[in-house]
Amino acid sequence: MQDNFLLYNTLTRETEPITPHEPGKIAMYTCGPTVYHYAHIGNLRSYIMEDVLEKALRYAGYDVKRVMNITDVGHLASDADTGEDKMLKGAKREHKSVMEVARFYTDAFFADCEMLNIKRPDVVEPATGCIPDFIRMVESLLEKGYAYEAGGNVYFDTGKLSDYFVFSSAVEKEQLKVGVRDDVEEDRNKRNKNDFVLWFTRSKFEDQALKWDSPWGVGYPGWHIECSCIAIRHLGEYMDLHCGGVDNIFPHHTNEIAQSEAYLGHRWCRHWFHVNHLNDQSGKMSKSKGDFLTVSLLKEKGYDPLAYRMFCLQSHYRKPLVFSFENLDNAAAAYGKLVRKIAGIAPEGEVDQEAFEEYRSRFKEALFGDLNTSMAITVVYDVVKADISGGTKLALLKDFDRVLSIGLTKEGAVLPENTPEADEELERFIREKIEERALAKKSKDFGRADAIREELLARGVAIKDTREGTVYELQH
Ligand SMILES: [Zn+2]
Repeated sequence: MQDNFLLYNTLTRETEPITPHEPGKIAMYTCGPTVYHYAHIGNLRSYIMEDVLEKALRYAGYDVKRVMNITDVGHLASDADTGEDKMLKGAKREHKSVMEVARFYTDAFFADCEMLNIKRPDVVEPATGCIPDFIRMVESLLEKGYAYEAGGNVYFDTGKLSDYFVFSSAVEKEQLKVGVRDDVEEDRNKRNKNDFVLWFTRSKFEDQALKWDSPWGVGYPGWHIECSCIAIRHLGEYMDLHCGGVDNIFPHHTNEIAQSEAYLGHRWCRHWFHVNHLNDQSGKMSKSKGDFLTVSLLKEKGYDPLAYRMFCLQSHYRKPLVFSFENLDNAAAAYGKLVRKIAGIAPEGEVDQEAFEEYRSRFKEALFGDLNTSMAITVVYDVVKADISGGTKLALLKDFDRVLSIGLTKEGAVLPENTPEADEELERFIREKIEERALAKKSKDFGRADAIREELLARGVAIKDTREGTVYELQH
């Protein structure tokens, strides 16, 4: 039996229960990265929140199948059918082939995810592996009269839909119909202003790197078709939950719905989940702003990537989050303190079932009420402070970490009994070093791990790895 799970739905603008097409199972899709550069921490905010959502759904008892695409087909630098090809731009910058660039940044993306404890989706599908699927869907849309050929390209005809702007309110719909976006270069082949390309054979880029044969000539797919096809291929005709950042709502998700529902002939995905922006003090963070922040850069600056995860969890996914190093410092300090406090909890006493269930139901209430992660973190603090046995606390924290994944009960500093008392400052120093060493080992940086051991030894502290974690002894 699954718990009731309330989640805001961008499509209906209501917070409503998740009601899967097949009871107990959730078919979940996430728009994946375009792999021409490192992911910046703003993108990763979305992936962190989607990861928490997936884990919370599993925690609620659902059997989740999650699919993600990798955009490795060159696609255009702006959301309009104009601009530079992002993949090609990356390849030129780095003097590599487009496929080398794609492979390199796909690996880099999953390395970032690992540092942030983001689980890999059940299916990860690169777009270049699905070209025949894209062609089949475009053919079908042409047959059904939802698409047309013009000037060598195939376009989706938005004029055939009674409600194209599905995510917008009535007022916004009017504005969208008349509004002209400055960055949209007029394409005279289009029947309607919002029509979009399903298949290109007339590329604006003569050196377009990846091209395939198609019934319409040699070319490449439009961006939006990729997600529709990959989702339907792996999750079937009915999807329960589709995720992305708020900037995916229009045009990307709007176009996904248009073509998928035209193709299928019925409603496609019921629930749409969107994560708001990470802003810096001057506005939205993006790659185009020159220097951008990556997880590796945060690590170089001495931050534990999980402190960034904690920073994201402390605010609600539907609100914009303002990033500054001061804000991150606060989150990192709170995180370090919390982890050290938990490391000091002795695993004593029986698990008090009544207390366990009580805190667990508070934790569920927070998560299953539109993914209120900051309230869930409050429950973590309440458990740490609570007047219950150490055994109960640790059992709860381990359970909560299945969803939060911030390393609450990771292998860390465990003090052996009968240790000569170190003074508080030294103790703090030792615990920080032990934690840093555990992280270095985790990322296979054994040189750094050994250097930390030496550094501690120089201060008269010998450390030893045991099954219960790392312990230390002061030498005389
Ligand atoms: Zn997508």
